[in-house]
Amino acid sequence: MGSYTRKMMFGDQPRFDTGWGGWVWWAPLEDIPPETFVEHWGAGRFVGGYPTKDGIGVCACAPVSDDIAKQGPGRRSRIQERFAGMGKLVDSWLDNTPDDDAEMFFWHLSDVRSHEWIKGRVVLLGDAAAGFLPTAGIGASMAMESAAVLADELSRVNADSLELALHAYEKRRRHRVERVQGESRQLARMMFVESGMLAWGRDQLTKLYSIKQLAGSIAKAFDEPI
Ligand SMILES: Cc1cc2nc3c(=O)[nH]c(=O)nc-3n(C[C@H](O)[C@H](O)[C@H](O)COP(=O)(O)OP(=O)(O)OC[C@H]3O[C@@H](n4cnc5c(N)ncnc54)[C@H](O)[C@@H]3O)c2cc1C
Repeated sequence: MGSYTRKMMFGDQPRFDTGWGGWVWWAPLEDIPPETFVEHWGAGRFVGGYPTKDGIGVCACAPVSDDIAKQGPGRRSRIQERFAGMGKLVDSWLDNTPDDDAEMFFWHLSDVRSHEWIKGRVVLLGDAAAGFLPTAGIGASMAMESAAVLADELSRVNADSLELALHAYEKRRRHRVERVQGESRQLARMMFVESGMLAWGRDQLTKLYSIKQLAGSIAKAFDEPI
C-alpha cells in the first residue's frame, strides 16, 4: 500500500480515506462457530472477528478524529470503554485487549489508486497499483489474479516486446481491479457510519437485502474470466 516504487515513479497518488481506523489484536478461538466471521456494524463504531486456524483476528474501528488512535497509558481502557456493550462475544474479545505497553497495530482505513501502472520496464501490481480497504476482503485475491495475468502476458513475449506485455497486462486488469476497489469503498460507506439516524436506516435496509445482494457484484467478479 505504501509502495516506494509507486512514489518514485509516479509521485503521490490519490487516496480514499474513510476517516476511520482500527485496533487489531488476537483473541482465543472460542464462542464462534468454525469458518464464521462476525461483524457488528454500529453508529460510530465497528467490531469484526475473523477466525484463523490459531485464533480470532479482532478489528475494532472508530472515527480517528477522537482519541481512539492514542498509544500509551490508558489505551486498553479507552478501547474497552469505546466498544463496550456490543454483546457478549465482543466483551470476551475486549477481555483480551493487549496491555498498554504491548505492541499493537492501529490501522488507518484508507486506500490508494495509482493513475499510472507502467513506466518503461517498471510495473505496479497488487496494493501498489490499487490498494484495498479490508471491507470486501478481496485485496489479496485481486493481487494474485493480477500476478497470474502478468505472468501469462510475460510468457508470450521476448525481451524486445516486454513493454507490449506490460500494457496488455494493464489493459486486462485495470477495469476489473478498480471496479472491485470501488465496491469495497461503497461497502465502507455503509459500514462506517457515525450518525445514529443513518446507522438505523442502514440497519433497516440491510434487513431487506441478503448478503448476496449487498456484495453480489464482488462475489460475481470471481465467476468472470480474468
Ligand atoms: C488486517 C488485514 C486483513 C486483510 N484481509 C484480507 C482478506 O480477508 N482477503 C483479502 O483478499 N485481502 C485481505 N487483505 C488485503 C491483502 O492483505 C492485500 O490486498 C494484499 O496483501 C496485497 O498484496 P501485495 O502483494 O500487493 O502487497 P503486500 O502483501 O503488502 O506485499 C508487499 C511485500 O513487499 C515487501 N516489501 C516492501 N518494501 C520492500 C523492499 N524495499 N524490498 C523488498 N520487499 C519489500 C513487504 O514486506 C511485503 O511483504 C487484508 C489486509 C489487512 C492489512
